[in-house]
Amino acid sequence: MTTVAAYAAPAAKAPLERTTIERRAVGEFDVLIDIKFAGICHSDIHQAREGWGEAIFPMVPGHEIAGVVAEVGSGVTRYAVGDRVGVGCMVDSCRECDNCKAGLEQYCTGGGMIGTYNALDRNGEPTYGGYSHQIVVDENYVVRIPDGLSLDVAAPLLCAGITTYSPLKHWNAGPGKKVAIVGMGGLGHMAVKIAHALGAEVTVLSQSLRKQEDGLKLGADHYYATSDPKTFEELAGTFDLILSTVSAPLNLDQFLSLLRTDGAFVNVGAPEEPVALNLFSVIMGRKSLAGSGIGGIQETQEMLDFCAEHGFGAEIELIAASEINEAYERVLASDVRYRFVIDTATI
Ligand code: NAP
Ligand code: ZN
Repeated sequence: MTTVAAYAAPAAKAPLERTTIERRAVGEFDVLIDIKFAGICHSDIHQAREGWGEAIFPMVPGHEIAGVVAEVGSGVTRYAVGDRVGVGCMVDSCRECDNCKAGLEQYCTGGGMIGTYNALDRNGEPTYGGYSHQIVVDENYVVRIPDGLSLDVAAPLLCAGITTYSPLKHWNAGPGKKVAIVGMGGLGHMAVKIAHALGAEVTVLSQSLRKQEDGLKLGADHYYATSDPKTFEELAGTFDLILSTVSAPLNLDQFLSLLRTDGAFVNVGAPEEPVALNLFSVIMGRKSLAGSGIGGIQETQEMLDFCAEHGFGAEIELIAASEINEAYERVLASDVRYRFVIDTATI
């Protein structure tokens, strides 16, 4: 076991503070990673505040991890000391169910994926995330960060990138498709970049026009404020695909009215409260309402390679660990451009 510095929430809703945690000894198939950067995902805040239900404390959040391999176990074949690597939302799964075998480890039916934090590992020990100096992870749940991407802008791809890439690919965002992205935050801004790179015609639906200039720069073709009721009149029946990244409940009926016949509304935002739905909103127009969770390990690697090929990472605000609590408040106020990333050297 190694003692490493970390930032943790000692209890639900308590501010995060510096502490130390124990990392397991490097096992046969494990990789020890010196964490360089860790992104702040809105999911960190939902969990640190128990917005999704009971959680495990102390909690070291962080599932957007970029770093460098410092040590490998004797059985590791895929990574060597010095490799630039990433870890996302999961650090293990059963590896035997149909989903695990199909590269959909995030939907593991053999007990569920083991989250990078706020979960129990195979030995029943709590997992601790990326707001720390080092992490030990089985090599099968580690991905390679391509040379063309710097580690700081690559970190957010491990969740915000894959969570938007996976559904955009699955629902065929591409040339000839009109795709709307709801919410221009951490996930939303990545969705804009990726949908644009896939060749789709991209529209941002944001609460206001405050971030319009950025959205257009990142690849959006159109930008509308959902606070303006005219938006819903003008865009009725327009989109093949709407991807919602919104962290709060939405008026689904209103957004479903923006789909064309056979269109799909896909939700990756994970609000803390249930939402209401008038089923006529999907009946008329044979519309689909779906959801999507992160992405599998192989697809995460594919996404990283895709982003490197297209020459982009995330748009980030690099912060010191002492600024985490303030950053959480700014995320809650939709005031992040567009992902806070912690320089873990400051922990
Ligand atoms: P974020 O940076 O806070 O972005 C969310 C955006 O949603 C905000 O920037 C804002 O965009 C919009 N928004 C916020 N409150 C709203 C409200 N009351 N009404 C309308 N729009 C609102 O958060 P994130 O890190 O991108 O995460 C977004 C959500 O996805 C969270 O719930 C997170 O837990 C979830 N998530 C899910 C998965 C998954 O696997 N499905 C993975 C990661 C995260 P505008 O300012 O442009 O309106
Ligand atoms: Zn996340």
